[in-house]
Amino acid sequence: MNDQPDHDIAQALQEVQDRIATAARSAGRDPATVSLIAVSKTHPADHIVPAIAAGQRLFGENRLQEAEEKWPGLRDRHPDTELHMIGGLQSRKVAGAVALFDVIHSIDREKVAAAAARAMAQTGRRPDCYIQVNTGEEPQKSGVLPADADAFIEKCRSVHDLPLAGLMCIPPADQEPAPHFALLAKIAERNGLRGLSMGMSADYEIAIQFGATLVRVGTAIFGVRTPQT
Ligand SMILES: *Cc1c(COP(=O)(O)O)cnc(C)c1O
Repeated sequence: MNDQPDHDIAQALQEVQDRIATAARSAGRDPATVSLIAVSKTHPADHIVPAIAAGQRLFGENRLQEAEEKWPGLRDRHPDTELHMIGGLQSRKVAGAVALFDVIHSIDREKVAAAAARAMAQTGRRPDCYIQVNTGEEPQKSGVLPADADAFIEKCRSVHDLPLAGLMCIPPADQEPAPHFALLAKIAERNGLRGLSMGMSADYEIAIQFGATLVRVGTAIFGVRTPQT
């Protein structure tokens, strides 16, 4: 729960949007080529409503069960919201994610790709997919290794026929993010993928400099989260 009752979500959202536009322009990009995903994980529906009222439409969640509890009610009232799965998926949860989300950012291994393909074939729903790349090669982090990315992308296309939109990364917390964003952009470019899901509260302006098309911002909009259990 958010314990900052005075936190003005609409104002914070406007500030982030202004900074996105400024970062895009100074990178020589049209601000319209960068979309903001408001990461609402851990925040209750009544913190999300003010963001929707302020015009925000793209939202990110990282846990299927939490999203299943919060979002069906919100989407009944706001059918034009777009829901992005940004958290890791166990393969047994992929079908649920395909059923609920419009975009999945965390296709990170063969089993998940295959489960997504099956769920799409069964339901006819085809959420845009992003492949998560573990650019920092961190053992505890999910994502395909950069060296395996080209082959995995090819397999997602030819074997699984996934609707691939791009790549996603989360740089190591203790490193400069820029080289990671540059690497992700390079892998996307050589594979003909246009979407780049990269950049969080601390580094979204840098990500935009390196070509981010989707930035995933939570704390800078909704305030500090209490840790998930
Ligand atoms: C939580 C989360 C974010 C948002 O992080 P902030 O630092 O709060 O902006 C972005 N991406 C992923 C994958 C996340 O899990």
